[in-house]
This record gives sequence, structure tokens and C-alpha cells, in this order.
Amino acid sequence: MQFFDSHTHATFAAFEKDSKEVIDRALATGVWIVNVGTQKDTSKRAVEVAREYNEGVYAAVGIHPVHTSKSYHDEDELGGGEAARAFTSRGEEFNHEYYLELARDPKVVAIGECGLDYYRLEQRANSKEQIERQKEVFIKHIELAHEVRKPLMIHCRSAFPNLVETLKAYRLKLNAHAPGIVHFFSGTISDAKKLLDMGFSFTFGGVITFAREYDEVIKMLPLERIFSETDAPYVAPAPHRGKRNEPAYVVEVVKKLAELKGVSVEEMAGITFENAKRVFRL
Ligand SMILES: [Zn+2]
Repeated sequence: MQFFDSHTHATFAAFEKDSKEVIDRALATGVWIVNVGTQKDTSKRAVEVAREYNEGVYAAVGIHPVHTSKSYHDEDELGGGEAARAFTSRGEEFNHEYYLELARDPKVVAIGECGLDYYRLEQRANSKEQIERQKEVFIKHIELAHEVRKPLMIHCRSAFPNLVETLKAYRLKLNAHAPGIVHFFSGTISDAKKLLDMGFSFTFGGVITFAREYDEVIKMLPLERIFSETDAPYVAPAPHRGKRNEPAYVVEVVKKLAELKGVSVEEMAGITFENAKRVFRL
């Protein structure tokens, strides 16, 4: 059986000591992966790692919305040292040339993760400016994706109405083959339907193995628009909950998707694998 972890971070600091083993373990389990960048260093790293493999390891490049402003420090992502800590205080400007060069690499299969995240903004005095900045940077990713004809890898949290509005406004710039994937989808059925109408797909991770609020939307979505992911090192699926997540665990996600869609695990593995190959053009 072949599986696809369409959104993972096996190149983050949490895998500093064993990134190669973790990736090789995924490949040995039949799992292909897309390592997703979240700012300029993790994006570059994802591309470098993808180049080391003939097939099965790919990259996405972009700026996560929380990195468009001064953000909290996540050691699993950036590591602990002083240089890593300094990184979080700056917020990143979108450097078009830098990302364009990475985006043109044949191993880069999507642009992101990019999008809108209002989840952590609520208590901030300058949240209005941050919302504006997130939107500006997101639009630059839409334009880059258009330029290189690759799909978007979208992160959206507590911001679905604005996400849909922005994508609608830039509809003509969306990739006709496949506009993109909304990762770790946490919106409503109505949000999902609007995104479906625009051609988007959806990827689900470990949370669906232990939380039931995703069942309804998964049951509603057509099979050809469902992807599997781990978002490792975060949110490991049952029975690995509480541990560091890794790409090989995507098998548990596919099992749950199969159960919810009423198909066999074999079928679901095939469907999520082929969906990823189609959208990522592999
Ligand atoms: Zn992610």
C-alpha cells in the first residue's frame, strides 16, 4: 500500500537529530511526503532535503501567517539556541525573488504554508495591522503560485470568511489545474462548500482520530478532494497521542478516513495517494 503525507515538517528542529531516519522510515512504510516550509529558512531546508531523494520527498515553500509579524517562539519548529530565538522577534517580509527561486525547483510541489491565522490575535492591541499584513503576504503567495503554476498550501485558522473573500477576489489568479489544498481544515460545512466550489481540496491529520467535530465535513466531501497529512511534529494520531508525530503515522489518519467514508483502508490509501499525485503533478 502507498500513502501520502501531504503536509508535514520532518525538517523542523524537532527532528534535528533524526530527520533522515524519520524520512527513511516513512518511505519504508510506503509513505511519500511533502515537507512544508513556514518561513525562509525552513522553506530552503525543505527544498534541500527534497533534492536528496529521487522520488517520494517533496517540498512546499512560503511564510506561515504567524511569521508575518513578531510571533511566539516554537522550539519544535525553530530550535532552542539564541539565533533561533532572535528569529521570532523580527517577523518576515515576503522576498519575492527568494521565494521565486525556491518555487521554481521541480521538487517544489506547492506554495505555502500561507494563509490567515487570527487564532492568536485576539488579545493583541495591534491585531488590525497584523490582519492587514497577513492578507498582504497571503496575496503575494497567490501571485507567486500563479507565476509558477503550482497549487497553494493553505493554513487557515479562525479566519474562514476572510479566506474565502480573498480567494474569490483573486479567483483569476488561481491555478486552473488545482488551486490548492486547505490543510488541517477546521472550518464549517458551509466554508468547505464554498472552497469546494472554487476547486480546493482538503487535508486532514491526526486530530480526526480522536476528535469527532471533523466527521461531518469529511463525510460530505467528495473522495477526490480528500488528502491525508500528519503536520508532524504536531498533533500525533491515536494511538501515538502525546508523542512527537512523524510522517509514518499518516497510516492511522488514512484508517480513520476509510472508516468515515465507508471504504477499505486499501482504497482510501490509493485515493489519497492518487489525489496527491494528481494535484502535486507527480
Ligand atoms: Zn504545518
